[in-house]
Amino acid sequence: MTKGTIGVTTDNIFPVIKKFLYSDHEIFLRELISNAVDATQKLKTLSSIGEYKGELGDLKVTVAIDKEAGTITVSDMGIGMTAEDVDKYINQIAFSGAEEFLEKYKNSANAIIGHFGLGFYSAFMVSKKVEIRSLSYKEGAKPVLWSCDGSPEYEMTETEKTSRGTDIVLYIDDDAKEFLEKSRIDSMLKKYCRFLPVPIVSGKEQEWKDGKYVDTDRDNVINNIEPIWTKKPADLKDEDYISFYHAIQPGQEDPLFWIHLNVDYPFNLTGVLYFPKIKNNLDIRKDRIQLYCNRVFVTDSVEGVVPDFLMLLQGVIDSPDIPLNVSRSYLQSDARVKQISSYITKKVSSRLAEIAKNDAKAFEEKWNDIKIFIEYGMLTDEKFCDAALKFMLLEDTDGKFFKLDDYKKLIESTQTDKDGNMVVLYATDKEAQYSYIKAATDKGYNVLMMNGQLDSAFIGTLEQKVEKSHFVRVDSDVIENLIKKEDTKEADITTMQRNVLTTVFRSQIPAIEKADFTIAFAALGEESTPVVVTQSEYMRRMKEMAALQPGMSFYGDFPDSYIVTLNTNHRAVKKVMAAAGEALDATVSPIEDELTVVNSEIKAIRDTDKDYKGLPADKQKEVDEKEKTANELREKERVAVTEWANSQDTVKQLIDIALLSNGLLKGEALSNFLKRSIDLL
Ligand code: ADP
Repeated sequence: MTKGTIGVTTDNIFPVIKKFLYSDHEIFLRELISNAVDATQKLKTLSSIGEYKGELGDLKVTVAIDKEAGTITVSDMGIGMTAEDVDKYINQIAFSGAEEFLEKYKNSANAIIGHFGLGFYSAFMVSKKVEIRSLSYKEGAKPVLWSCDGSPEYEMTETEKTSRGTDIVLYIDDDAKEFLEKSRIDSMLKKYCRFLPVPIVSGKEQEWKDGKYVDTDRDNVINNIEPIWTKKPADLKDEDYISFYHAIQPGQEDPLFWIHLNVDYPFNLTGVLYFPKIKNNLDIRKDRIQLYCNRVFVTDSVEGVVPDFLMLLQGVIDSPDIPLNVSRSYLQSDARVKQISSYITKKVSSRLAEIAKNDAKAFEEKWNDIKIFIEYGMLTDEKFCDAALKFMLLEDTDGKFFKLDDYKKLIESTQTDKDGNMVVLYATDKEAQYSYIKAATDKGYNVLMMNGQLDSAFIGTLEQKVEKSHFVRVDSDVIENLIKKEDTKEADITTMQRNVLTTVFRSQIPAIEKADFTIAFAALGEESTPVVVTQSEYMRRMKEMAALQPGMSFYGDFPDSYIVTLNTNHRAVKKVMAAAGEALDATVSPIEDELTVVNSEIKAIRDTDKDYKGLPADKQKEVDEKEKTANELREKERVAVTEWANSQDTVKQLIDIALLSNGLLKGEALSNFLKRSIDLL
C-alpha cells in the first residue's frame, strides 16, 4: 500500500469545493457519469483501431444506490485505470495549477467556479469518503483501490476486481442523504444524462404485479431518446423533429417551425430550436432551451448564450465550446459565447426567410402564431430587425398577407399624402372600427390589422424603418384628414356660426366617464358622414405607451380625448345651421356684437404694454372688469343656445349616431337614443 498527498499544497481544497459549489451539489453526478462515458467511448475507439482486442461486452454505465451502506456507486466498463494512471490523472493532474489559481482568485467565488473544471473531485461535495476501484483494459493490469476521506491524504492499494472498468464509490455525507433516494438520483440522471451516447442504467424497469410494483430483469435505461441534433439534417424527417420535440417538451402542441443549427467553424455548435405554438401568454417561459456540452446537460438558463428574444423558443443547443461550470457573468463576457449568440440570430433569420420564400402558404398560415416572436425580436435586436423586414408579414382587414415591400407598392400611389408621406392605415378591432374601415376602403385605401400584443410598440419600429411613413389608426380622424391629398378646404362658416354650432353640439353630448370632447369643423363630401367621433393617434399612443411603462401610469388616468368633427357640407348639419340661425340670430347677434367690442377694447389696452412688462394697476383693473363682462356675455349666449339645442332632436340623433359607431354610446345614453329614435318614426 502507498500513502501520499494529493498534488496540492494549499492546505485543504475540499472545503473550497464544498463551499463554493454549495448551491449546485448535484453536478457531482454529471461529472462522474461524464468520466464513465468518456472511459467507455475511449475503449470503443481503442477496439475499433485494434488496440484493444478483448470483448467489449454490453457496454453501459450503472448507478447503484445502497441505502444501508450509505453509498452511491457509478460503474463503467470502460478503459479503467492502472495504479500509475490513478497517480497520474487523479493524484497529480487534478490540482495542478490549482494553488496558483486559488491565490489569484481567492476573493472571487464566481471566478473559481468559472475557471475550475471540477471533474472527479466534485464527488467530495456530497461524500465523506470516495473510493476508486478500477481494472485497466491493459493486458496484465492489476486492479487498484484508491481511497480518500476528503483530506489531502489518499491511500492506494491492490484490490480484487475481475471485470474491466471503474467503480466510483461515494460514501455519502450525512448532510447529503437526499442523494440516497432513487427518485432524486433518477431525476438528476434524466436532467443531465438523457442524451449520453452510452446506456445509463439506474436499477431495473418495474411492472405492476399482484398489487404492487416489482423489478423486472430489464435494465432501466435513462437515456432512451435519440439526440437528433447530432444527426445530419438531410437524414431527418419532419416526424423525427416533431417526435423529438414531444420527448423534450411533453404536453405541448406540435411546434410551428424548427431550425437545425449546425456549425463547426469558428466554433462548434449543434442544436435544434423550435417555435412553439403558444396557447396563451402564460405559456411563455424563458427556460425552455437547454444547453448541452457534448450531450451532457449544462443548464437551462441560457441568458447570454441565446439572444433574449430567442429564449422564447424551445429546444437544445450543444456546444463543446461553451465552458462548463461557469457563472452567468463569465458566460456573457466570453467572446466565443457572444459569437454563438449572433450566429444563432443569423441562422434563425435566414431560416425564417427561407421558409417564407419556399413555403409562403405555410408561413402565412402560421404567421399569427410566430408573429409575437418575430416582433419581439425586431423590437429588441437591431440586426434581426433588419433581416426580418424582408420576410415579416402584414395582414389587412380582409385577412390578406403582404410582405412589407409588396405592401409599400400596393399603397404607394393611393396612400401618399400631399407632403409625400406614405400613410399606413390600421385597425385594432374589426367590429368596433367597422365604419371607419369602410370609409377608408370605400376610398380605395387598404387597412391593416394591428391587434397583436406587441403591435402598438411595433408600429413605432416600422415607422423608423420605413422611410417617410406614418401609421395612423383608421378612427383617429376623418379619412380626408388622415390622408390629406390637398390643403383642406376651410369650412365656409362665420365665427358666429362656429361659436353657435360648437355650443349647440357640445351641449348635447351625453356625459361619458373619462372622456373629453372637442368640436371641430371640416368641409367634407356631401356623401360623407355628417358627424364623426375620432381619437387622436398621438394621444392614444401616449396613453398606450404609458400603460406599458411602470411609473407612467398617471397617463392612464387622463380622460380619453375625442374629436367630434362636423361635416359642414352635409345637409343634416346645414339644416341645423340654418335652423339655429333662424331661431338664435336675433338673440345671439347683439351679444356677439357686444363681445366683439369688449374684446377689441381689451386688446387695445393690452397692446399698450409693448414690452410685456405688465400693465399698471389701474389698467389691469380695467382689463379684469372687461373680461368679466365678456365672460358674462359668453355665458348668456351659452344659456340661450343650449336652451334651444335642448329641444333639437336632430342634433342629439347626429351626435348619438356618431358615438354609437365608435362604441361610446352606452347605458342610459344608449337607451335615450333608442327611445328618441322610436319617437321619431
Ligand atoms: P477531466 O475529466 O476533466 O479530465 P477529472 O478530474 O474528472 O477531470 O478526471 C481526471 C482523469 O481521470 C480523466 O481525464 C481520466 O483520465 C481519469 N478518469 C476519471 N474517471 C475515470 C473513469 N471512470 N475511467 C477511467 N478513467 C477515469
